[in-house]
Amino acid sequence: MSDCLFCKIAAGEIPSKKIYEDDLVFAFYDIDPQAPVHYLVIPKQHIPSCAAITPENSAVVARCFEVIASTAKQLGISEFRVVSNCGKQAGQSVDHLHFHVLSGRDMTWPPG
Ligand code: AMP
Repeated sequence: MSDCLFCKIAAGEIPSKKIYEDDLVFAFYDIDPQAPVHYLVIPKQHIPSCAAITPENSAVVARCFEVIASTAKQLGISEFRVVSNCGKQAGQSVDHLHFHVLSGRDMTWPPG
């Protein structure tokens, strides 16, 4: 989508601290880290949020989770939290599906 921040990051039109890229998925460090390790894994395809996952587009979501596992291994983290905020009330600020990967500190539950 032409005016989407994460579409532009995935296309290399806006710079990011890239961790991993393939034809379907892009992973990069969050600009405002909430943990010692905090990065985002996104599909290159524009999917607005978890609420827009369907049988037609869910294969890329599985690929995102494969990349979460492989990048965590690459970065040497074995304990981490994966979060996807869906909708304004849940804290979503960028309307392109993304999975936060957070690690390197104790996490609390439930999240605030
Ligand atoms: P959310 O609030 O769950 O939608 O997550 C969006 C995340 O994107 C936030 O954690 C932001 O810090 C992060 N973010 C926003 N702009 C950028 C950017 N240009 N590069 C990297 N991360 C970003």
